[in-house]
Amino acid sequence: MLPRYKDIVELLKKGSTLEAQEQIMSLREGALELQEENQELKSRIRELEGKLEAIDFWENEKSRYYLVSPWRGPAQAYALKKSESEGEPPHLVCSNCFHQRQKVILNPKNKDGWIYLTCPACKAEITTGLRGVRGPQYAEEYTAEPG
Ligand SMILES: [Zn+2]
Repeated sequence: MLPRYKDIVELLKKGSTLEAQEQIMSLREGALELQEENQELKSRIRELEGKLEAIDFWENEKSRYYLVSPWRGPAQAYALKKSESEGEPPHLVCSNCFHQRQKVILNPKNKDGWIYLTCPACKAEITTGLRGVRGPQYAEEYTAEPG
């Protein structure tokens, strides 16, 4: 509890200068502590604002993709939506990494005549079950009803 200004004035009026000085000292210490605490809180706020920004950014990024199954079998990847492409070319990103809030573009790889898609980050290897694949498409093209 910090000494109150009013009490210090009372002490001075009574002529208790020494006691008043002590109170002033502890008031100063208190002010310094509060200043420090204020600095800590400010930097904590900046840190949290940064985290929030990153979350907002990711939420927005996430909404630009759609989970698709472009190949034979159950393998899935996230495809960029054409409506959200903002001029970016179509691409497929690793679903493993996507769930870790990372966008990693899958690379096609030919192994014994079969096409696999590999993730350079988590090393996931997706079997397409196909011997040839088209270039990546926008999500809408994978989800469109056939015919
Ligand atoms: Zn990955």
